[in-house]
Amino acid sequence: MTTIAPRLEMPACDHVPRPYDGPSRGEILAMRKQYTNPAVFTLYREPLLLVEGHMQYVFDETGRRYLDMLAGIVTISVGHCHPKVTQRVQEQVGTLQHATTIYLHPNVPMLARKLASKMPPGLDVTYFTNSGTEANELALMMARLYTGNTDVIAVRNAYHGGSQAAMGLTSMHTWKMPLGGEGRVHHALNPDPYRSPFSGSAEEIATRSAEDIRDLIRYSTPGKVAAFISEPIQGAGGVTHGAPNYLKEAYAITREHGGVCIADEVQTGFGRTGNHYWGFQNFGVVPDIVTMAKGLGNGAPIAAVTTRMEIAQKLAQRVHFNTFGGNPVSAAAGLAVMDVIDEDGLQENARVLGARMRAGLDRLKRSHPLIGDVRGMGLMLGIELVTDRATRAPAKGETADILEACRDLGVLVGKGGLDGNVLRIKPAMCITADDADFALDVLHRAIEVTGGR
Ligand code: PMP
Repeated sequence: MTTIAPRLEMPACDHVPRPYDGPSRGEILAMRKQYTNPAVFTLYREPLLLVEGHMQYVFDETGRRYLDMLAGIVTISVGHCHPKVTQRVQEQVGTLQHATTIYLHPNVPMLARKLASKMPPGLDVTYFTNSGTEANELALMMARLYTGNTDVIAVRNAYHGGSQAAMGLTSMHTWKMPLGGEGRVHHALNPDPYRSPFSGSAEEIATRSAEDIRDLIRYSTPGKVAAFISEPIQGAGGVTHGAPNYLKEAYAITREHGGVCIADEVQTGFGRTGNHYWGFQNFGVVPDIVTMAKGLGNGAPIAAVTTRMEIAQKLAQRVHFNTFGGNPVSAAAGLAVMDVIDEDGLQENARVLGARMRAGLDRLKRSHPLIGDVRGMGLMLGIELVTDRATRAPAKGETADILEACRDLGVLVGKGGLDGNVLRIKPAMCITADDADFALDVLHRAIEVTGGR
């Protein structure tokens, strides 16, 4: 028995997609198979072709609309083709598309100043890159240059990017190529109470997990570290985080051993967690370096590393250059996105609708034993599926089936966690209450139609 009414009509939308007259889905698939690196993978069993987007919705080649609850992997922060962002990007494309930072352009320092205005005091110097991976590489480099130390502590189950150095920070075997040479990175125990080897309260688990950092430093490093890096809430890892004391204690131990603290805000930044603009603020810490990407550009390739001047200065000892870093068009997108987050009240929307979704997911958990854990903050939510609540055995196949069923019912969600058994809900922050309720109804129905309990 359930209290959730099966109302499966998608909220109305007056956007009419243009007729699609490009290559067919089959042709695109064949071209991809023949000409793109096979490492470039698709999500669904029958890959989805997307040809248009409008705010929280996307359209396939037949004009079918989907509610996009993954937002291009947490990248569409303010909405697909948000009119204000589109206008400012179009104006910039038609005026000056590229210059590089060897010339002056207003957008780069203006965006850096805007970022500084959202940061705690002192974190006010930014270097722009094109991707989150690059941002984390650069943060690592600055941490090592600043501290003179090499060893780095990251957290198990983290995802920090796909370059060799960022892969070294990443801690999921599925994302690790057998290469070696990723540098001296040590992975500390994860404070997520649902999968911790420790028992006790979430706070006790957090403290014992933070103490693991001390052990790692003592046993595996020369006694000094360059940095501790973590996502305030792990994204690809399945929306996992520790109790609020974890980061405080982890940062203190890192600093005691000469290291700086890096917050990877690639997924948690820009208001997504609802109560705060940055994820780290939910945990009462101030990092030394903040990396960001995805939501800053709402789809434009832009990322950034913000830090204090004394740390940033270390990069100036040699020539360092990035051709597209701070590209005027991407920076125009970033400026527009940050304005829209404020003007449209999107952080508040993330808080209110995040709470609504969270309450709905908690209700679903009460009626479906398949749901082992619901977690996250604001519009960064995860639902971990297990075949047995006692053993917490990952329900891998069920998760994949539910993901497919949601798509059939008109909702795109993501999948995460090392075992791929966490459904990820991270929509554009412009979703409405009707969208949230529709997504909840669809999830409920998807669990039922796939035979889940
Ligand atoms: N850090 C985090 C937390 C991420 O989620 C990602 C991307 N999923 C990255 C870094 C890497 O970003 P990019 O794909 O832009 O290189």
